[in-house]
Amino acid sequence: MGTLRSGARRILADALLGSDPKVRLRLNWFFAGAAVYVLSFFLVLLGLWWQLTGPVAALALCLFNTVGQLLFYCALRSGWSARLHDPAMTLPQCMYAIVVISLAYALSPPVRGAMPMLMGLVLMFGALVLSPSDCRRLGALSVMALALVVLMGVVRAPAVFVPRIEIIHFLLSAAVLLAIAHLAGKLSELRELQQSQKAELRVALEKVHLLATHDELTGLPNRRQVVEWLVHEERRARRQEMPLCVSLLDIDHFKNVNDTLGHQAGDEALRRFASILMPALRAGDVLARWGGEEFILLLPATPLDEAARVLERLRLRCADRSSWTDRAELQVSFSAGLSAHVAGEPTQLVIARADAALYQAKRSGRNRLEIA
Ligand code: GH3
Ligand code: MG
Ligand code: MG
Repeated sequence: MGTLRSGARRILADALLGSDPKVRLRLNWFFAGAAVYVLSFFLVLLGLWWQLTGPVAALALCLFNTVGQLLFYCALRSGWSARLHDPAMTLPQCMYAIVVISLAYALSPPVRGAMPMLMGLVLMFGALVLSPSDCRRLGALSVMALALVVLMGVVRAPAVFVPRIEIIHFLLSAAVLLAIAHLAGKLSELRELQQSQKAELRVALEKVHLLATHDELTGLPNRRQVVEWLVHEERRARRQEMPLCVSLLDIDHFKNVNDTLGHQAGDEALRRFASILMPALRAGDVLARWGGEEFILLLPATPLDEAARVLERLRLRCADRSSWTDRAELQVSFSAGLSAHVAGEPTQLVIARADAALYQAKRSGRNRLEIA
């Protein structure tokens, strides 16, 4: 029974609000405002029953209300409002509400004292969504609309809209409405400040994360990041019974580059080394800076013989003079040690074996690959 009711509620909500989450959010706000319109509809009926308002005025108010609300609902529900600068149409909806309330002030004199209070509610509603300047503009519109209906009432029916009482009503209401508009503007300013601080914080966090996980010089992932990935890859390899290879790469005689061309040229050689190797990697392979002029290559789901072919391709690419374009003097070679991960062994062991193989590659003459 409960699930039947919740199912029916969901179908009704889908029909009224649609499936687009943005449209649903806008319509949720719309219905919050519409609830006040529905309440005022019943109050108009009560006013009619108690003869506080005439049938023509009541009909005019209800019609104006209903047509306006239907138009706003259609504009929001159909997605038409998405083309507007403010797709939620908050300012037009608030302005419309101010006009309706002013009309109610003119059409139901005995209860007109409650109307400025409703205007205040509209202004507070705006504070949650409108910009600070729009909040203040809405406040000015409320006071002007009130002035207009007061003036019309006083001129057309001074017996009902007694001028002295109207002036006091108006002055007090205008002061309160302007104060509310000012406070709404302040709230809106605070909201905007909070949003921009949140955006700044998000950017700063992304930067901190990038700095913590990447090497600044080459832009490659750093040692900390690759150790994390290696543990993750090792678990995955074990779960899926896939091979995983690890290789350590060390640039040959790199000290010479620094000694002969300077430290800055050495930095540039490291940057270029990374950018020469990167495009030759397959999706899923990870090249990271292990430290100094040493790099680590993770080759997930790769058997040892295929990993050796990948490294040989990288070595040849590095040895190709054209890879170094206009800075031929920076060209370096590398030696590499390659090791396959054995299921269940700690990740330090596979790295240690790759390191031993690298040492062997250095001893055997450099610019070569040794397999552990
Ligand atoms: P081998 O072939 O045995 O590896 O010789 P190598 O000269 O490459 O090795 P060695 O360990 O003697 O020297 C590594 C050099 O790399 C020394 C160090 O100053 C330099 N180096 C490490 N990190 C950087 C860096 O970020 N920038 C620059 N420019 N040089 C670096
Ligand atoms: Mg080294
Ligand atoms: Mg070296």
